[in-house]
Amino acid sequence: LTTTEQEVLDEIETEGVDFLRLQFTDILGTVKNVSVPARQAEKAFTEGIYFDGSSIEGFVRIQESDMRLKPDPETFAVLPWRDKDDSAAARMICDVIDTSTGEPFEGDPRYILKQALDRAKEMGYTVNAAPEPEFFLFEEDEDGHATTETNDHGGYFDLAPKDLASDVRRDIIYGLEDMGFEVEASHHEVAQGQHEINFEYDDALTTADNVATFRTVVRAIAAQHDYHATFMPKPIPKVNGSGMHTHISLFTEDGENAFHDDDDEFDLSDEARAFTAGVLEHAPAITAVANPTVNSYKRLVPGYEAPVYVAWSDRNRSALIRKPAARVPAASRIELRSPDPSCNPYLAIAVMIHAGLDGIENDLDCPDPVRENIYEFDEQKREEYGIDTLPSNLGEAVDALEDDEVVYDALGDHVAEKFVEAKNQEFEEYLIDVSQWELDRYLEKF
Ligand code: GLN
Ligand code: MG
Ligand code: MG
Ligand code: MG
Repeated sequence: LTTTEQEVLDEIETEGVDFLRLQFTDILGTVKNVSVPARQAEKAFTEGIYFDGSSIEGFVRIQESDMRLKPDPETFAVLPWRDKDDSAAARMICDVIDTSTGEPFEGDPRYILKQALDRAKEMGYTVNAAPEPEFFLFEEDEDGHATTETNDHGGYFDLAPKDLASDVRRDIIYGLEDMGFEVEASHHEVAQGQHEINFEYDDALTTADNVATFRTVVRAIAAQHDYHATFMPKPIPKVNGSGMHTHISLFTEDGENAFHDDDDEFDLSDEARAFTAGVLEHAPAITAVANPTVNSYKRLVPGYEAPVYVAWSDRNRSALIRKPAARVPAASRIELRSPDPSCNPYLAIAVMIHAGLDGIENDLDCPDPVRENIYEFDEQKREEYGIDTLPSNLGEAVDALEDDEVVYDALGDHVAEKFVEAKNQEFEEYLIDVSQWELDRYLEKF
């Protein structure tokens, strides 16, 4: 056993942990658990835990379904939402190993991200990332099902919203801190019932792990208060949806921020610009991964602080990429504003990295920043500025993904194929459905 593994065994002992949840995510980003008695922890480290992968979304074909979970001891955390006198449970995030080869399973999203990080490393970089997940807290009905009712009259940054939801948010933050999160900021968002919690940036892998954990913790603690937390991107029409802006920067091997240049007007290095150019170039395909639901595209419309246009800016928030002001060189970074919290964080960050690195490798030219409000541009002005629009629905986004070699390859054949198949099916189901809007509009009229 390694020292960290031994430390985990000691902590299981001192914390009185009875059950271990071994976690991984499927291609669609859903967290999966295999629960084992804590006394199997040592075996989990030395031999791994076997499971049948055929029941996991997009994982394997039935005939080759044996997978092994290899827990990452760095991710050990005691779960905060169990009663203290009840037995404690802890989780570890796992890598998935294909038992037929003994190699990492190519359908494991965490492995896809690790490969993106390997590519960055070969180019001399490590990657830092920080997300800003937004979500709604809704009331539950008598049967415990989610409604879209909010019991809350707060608005953006309201100090004392007179609502119960802020108590829930406080408990969520305590829970996250118990699990080792460093919560940087949290606030009420623009829409009623909408919240945002930001946590400290970290290396990209830890950040993706954190997002997966975050969604689980937020939902579990909200549920304890009889609230439903949803990361659905646009639960209520005509008000702001929920985004997950993602900040990203590259560091060199000696710990310098490769995105920073003191002499540049925007503090951005050539690498940062080329990286930005790469993300802009591949933006339509990235959208399929960062905005993977039918509902995601109800958020990506003008007027609600969500991006629609493929441009970058150092100040306005209607652009796809923003260069936030940085107080210190280490904080120079770019913010991609399209991702929403329904995405698989491993895959979304992986495609972002590959697109950006592609920009650096091919020395792509970064366009000038657009400092005006692009929502107010008409088509002619957009053409004049050379500004493209993001795909307007899931079907278009998946087409863009299939046409984009860099982003498709970033996912690897296995994930790319399963992802495209699942998303095409989802979009087709949506297309043949008849919505309430149509019934309201046409049923009595015709
Ligand atoms: N909710 C907005 C979005 O959909 C973002 C609002 C903000 O953080 N300023 O991205
Ligand atoms: Mg924010
Ligand atoms: Mg926000
Ligand atoms: Mg932001």
